[in-house]
Amino acid sequence: MTAAFGQVALPLPLAQPYTYRIPEAIADRIRPGARVVVPVRQREMVGIVVAEAPPPEGVTARDILSAPDPEPALTSPLLGTAQWMAGYYAAPLGLTLKAMLPAALWGESRVIAVLARGGERATGGLGGEVLDWLMRKGGEGAVPTIARALKRPVWDAVNRLVRVGALTLRVEPAETDRLEAHERVLVLGEPPSLLEREEQFKRAKEQRRLLEAVEELGGRSPLKHLHDQLGFSAAVVKALVARGLATIEEETKLRDPFAGHPGTPPPTDLTPAQRTALAAIEALPPGGASLLFGVTGSGKTLVYLEAIRAAMARGKGAILLVPEISLTPQTVSRVRGAFGDQVAVLHSGLSDAERADAWRAIRSGEKSVAVGARSAIFAPIPDLGVIVIDEEHEASYKNGESPRYHARDVAYVRARLEGARLVLGSATPSPESFGKVGEKLQLIRLPERVGGRPMPKVEVVDLRHAERIREAGAVPWSSALDTAVQSTLDRGEQALLLLNRRGFASFLQCPSCGDVAQCSQCSISLTVHQAPAGLRCHYCNASEPLNRACPKCGHAVQRMRGLGTQQLERWLATRYPKARLARMDLDTTSTRWSHHRILESVGRGDVDILLGTQMIAKGLDFPNVTLVGVIDADTGVYLPDFRSAERTFQLLAQVAGRAGRGPKGGRVIVQTFRPDHHAIRHAAAHDTESFLAEELAMRESPPYPPTVALANILVSGPDETKVGTAAADAADWCRGLVAQHNLPITVLGPVASPLARIKGRWRWHVVLKGPAEEIGRVTRYAATHLARAGEPRIVVDRDPGSML
Ligand code: ADP
Ligand code: ZN
Repeated sequence: MTAAFGQVALPLPLAQPYTYRIPEAIADRIRPGARVVVPVRQREMVGIVVAEAPPPEGVTARDILSAPDPEPALTSPLLGTAQWMAGYYAAPLGLTLKAMLPAALWGESRVIAVLARGGERATGGLGGEVLDWLMRKGGEGAVPTIARALKRPVWDAVNRLVRVGALTLRVEPAETDRLEAHERVLVLGEPPSLLEREEQFKRAKEQRRLLEAVEELGGRSPLKHLHDQLGFSAAVVKALVARGLATIEEETKLRDPFAGHPGTPPPTDLTPAQRTALAAIEALPPGGASLLFGVTGSGKTLVYLEAIRAAMARGKGAILLVPEISLTPQTVSRVRGAFGDQVAVLHSGLSDAERADAWRAIRSGEKSVAVGARSAIFAPIPDLGVIVIDEEHEASYKNGESPRYHARDVAYVRARLEGARLVLGSATPSPESFGKVGEKLQLIRLPERVGGRPMPKVEVVDLRHAERIREAGAVPWSSALDTAVQSTLDRGEQALLLLNRRGFASFLQCPSCGDVAQCSQCSISLTVHQAPAGLRCHYCNASEPLNRACPKCGHAVQRMRGLGTQQLERWLATRYPKARLARMDLDTTSTRWSHHRILESVGRGDVDILLGTQMIAKGLDFPNVTLVGVIDADTGVYLPDFRSAERTFQLLAQVAGRAGRGPKGGRVIVQTFRPDHHAIRHAAAHDTESFLAEELAMRESPPYPPTVALANILVSGPDETKVGTAAADAADWCRGLVAQHNLPITVLGPVASPLARIKGRWRWHVVLKGPAEEIGRVTRYAATHLARAGEPRIVVDRDPGSML
């Protein structure tokens, strides 16, 4: 960069980057994407140069102090991607880069000077003093520490020493997070008998709840989980330990369950269909994008792996995105099996320092395949050949905070800037992607399962008329499902049962006045939980005692309504006493890798029935699973969101796809009160295309994406009246803007959001509908003139994932 000034972004919510002067002596290292040390008020911070800048008017710009890296940290396509995101989602560039770069690499990080070999012979003067100091201190030290010790600014001297090769600079996180390596776990001793319990816990109900909660979790649980998720106080934990019923142990956190595992080697020969699909991907022009639409079990993973292998053979790297690492251990294991140490697995269990290490290994080319969830789209692969997004329809690819990016849309842009190919894979493509086929996306199909295996037969059980097992009580248990489970168990095969609602019962209702127990902070009914028993809010985790009279009318006995996974598990245990059960939902997956452990035991054959929420629907490939049962297909159908049908279809099709993946075949039973609903009908027929055709037609009128683009302006705050007024003002502002510029945009609202209150904050929104380009313009305008961090808070969400 030849300009004398540069704009530097910092991980702060600033609308504009700061401008700094570039000193001659370090000018050659300063290019867009480079890390630099800059003064920010009284401190020094590490920022990223984002552009040249004209000289600032009126003020004198401060100097950039140093540039630690010989090569820019961000490649030019990555920086370009960041700039696109900042514009498209109307987010400050600093915050956008914050989503891209590990925290440990910039911001508050410290710059360490490291003595190079032979460097000690260099010079006299201040440089000599710096070198002397470093030699005395074992060869390295933080630059601010050196300055303090020598009582002078040292950056000029340090830069000169770097230039002559006497020093190198390293950026290190301000705080090392070694503490995170261990966690405190509560471990139960010999369990007291039921009778002892009655005695011991007569006046200590909380302690009994705690004991039973930990029993439920297999006898041990991290304290953090007991506190954060289940709401037990430290005092209750202490009391249980004092009674000698439990101990607290330090446990090394299981950091990376993938490290050390060789992975599963993939099949070696492609089927003809896979070969055709791979050839179509290879034939894409650089920067070209495709939708790999393959039924469940069609062997999409092997196509991904081969596309990655082809890119690597050309000397390029690859990114594979999965919805969530902990839920897709099999996919990760296959990538590891194919590419071994070349793979960097970016999962949420990494500490800041480990994340920074992985980032460096990728940036330097030491690892050329990055696998991870949403944010792995920013992996700094220096020369990117292919981006694969598995299960491209998944909601988790949309980020919930600023920048509110969708990884799929970021991937399009990055692939274009990199000249990389993009592969979006799914058995149930999103209407957005399917709508782009022929335009931005080339369609590639895998219409059949590997080995000619049939799709499992799906039987729909109409719960309005079906014969039911009486003893099941609140559990809708049809004879058809009962017989199917029984015979699966008799044959020694495995069953998967989906119920997308955790807890014991959906809500507690007064049989006398009809009042339903609600969270005091959120506009949502409280869910009934057993073990630990209580009413719990699934939004804010607040809990209330279960045994209480109706607060409205005083009626003593309350009735539980609706069904959750805990109750289903209890029913299964009585109905099939010999079956080995495992439950997988948010309440049983307390530690980060508990999913992993549960799935491993299913894979080993230690579990006969796996029941769970949507967690069990994704990507599992167990050949001995021959039955999939959906207990209540209607749980998500009535959500007041334009994606409720899409989500229902995807969930049913995905979970159905877990059956019959081995030679024994399989079947699916779907229980529903709405057999005529298009999501349920088409999922039962494995007919994704008819579903998409019907859904796309429905989204034309009233229009919803992809027919139109949306922006959601969400106003929230603790004061209901102020939120309502601010929302009305926001709607007026939008209408004024639309009228003034004669924009083809419809403004809807303000209305209270379907979830009108969460964690004590009232929520109203204004929805804008219109062509993408105009929605983009209004989003940017609203982000500067309307959005605000103070109360009530106003955020602008372009392409919202849900309207709840
Ligand atoms: P999808 O992701 O499309 O649901 P998978 O990639 O999980 O499907 O493949 C389904 C099953 O078929 C897996 O068990 C996989 O190992 C197997 N498979 C895939 N391709 C081949 C092949 N070419 N030869 C033999 N088995 C294969
Ligand atoms: Zn709540």
